[in-house]
Amino acid sequence: MAISTASELVRLDGIKKHYPVTSGGMLRRVHGLVKAVDGISFSMNEGETYSLVGESGCGKTTTSRMVLMAEPPTDGSISYQGNPMTSFSNSDRQNFRSSVQAVFQDPWSSLNPRMRVDSIISEPIITHQKNATKNEIKDRVDELLQVVGLHPFHAFRYPHEFSGGQRQRIAIARALSTQPKLIVLDEPVSALDVSIRAQILNLLKDLQETYQLSYLLIAHNLATVRYMSHRVGVMYLGKIVEEADPIELFTNPLHPYTKALISASLPSHPRQQREEIVLTGEVPSPIDPPSGCTFHPRCPFVLDHCSTNIPIYETPVENHLVSCHLYNNG
Ligand code: SF4
Repeated sequence: MAISTASELVRLDGIKKHYPVTSGGMLRRVHGLVKAVDGISFSMNEGETYSLVGESGCGKTTTSRMVLMAEPPTDGSISYQGNPMTSFSNSDRQNFRSSVQAVFQDPWSSLNPRMRVDSIISEPIITHQKNATKNEIKDRVDELLQVVGLHPFHAFRYPHEFSGGQRQRIAIARALSTQPKLIVLDEPVSALDVSIRAQILNLLKDLQETYQLSYLLIAHNLATVRYMSHRVGVMYLGKIVEEADPIELFTNPLHPYTKALISASLPSHPRQQREEIVLTGEVPSPIDPPSGCTFHPRCPFVLDHCSTNIPIYETPVENHLVSCHLYNNG
């Protein structure tokens, strides 16, 4: 069960997303399930960033699509401001669509190349604020361009006239246009030059402080996650195997998978003794995941019962959850 606080905005409880694997022509037969997300729980607070990290295909983006209501879970429940999404009325759904926005990895494909910047940014305002006048919309577009570090005269240009970093600023302005509470950031800087990644991350941090935004950050770059997050969930084969705040997670990782991710991607401090763990083998198929702990075929610390017993997700250290037999007797 995720840890609850008074300022909770989103809560996921036991969320699963299983896709049927079918074969045959007219009479399609289901002969398996892809367990893209397999029973995850976490909560997000107002004004904070919750990050999901893990290798490609671990279920991060599928989870974010369910939070965006782009697809329903197979099982479990997602609540927004305390209300389960399944009980939303039509007006709840409309309010949700304006208060939850997304910024994606590639601003080339997420911005319509045939639309001018003013149309791109004003489109969500026109959809969600039907009473807004033309002057109000224009003023809002000018304001948003300045908020993201661009100029009002940029409103009359097209996406191809901008650099990658500027296009991501336009995507952020569009996400802000409906005054959202939550923005899903799906690899927001990984398509950008290294030299401008920090500028976009700093902009996102400033905007979070100014507007009390919550971010659900999907990222594989651990330096980005460490810099941006208030809470981090590490995903492996559709499950969250470890969760903690970034200082705790990066200085005291418990799960062998988290240790391997960190040793592969973050340089260790000269004074910090860190275990070097090299991951071997491929991520197993989510159609037929390994029994017991799904990480056991790749784990350098595997115990006899790891291949048969599923570890319990528990808290061996305060506010630090992990699912591993090294820390429980399951
Ligand atoms: Fe490794 Fe066993 Fe822990 Fe899984 S439960 S991570 S196999 S030690």
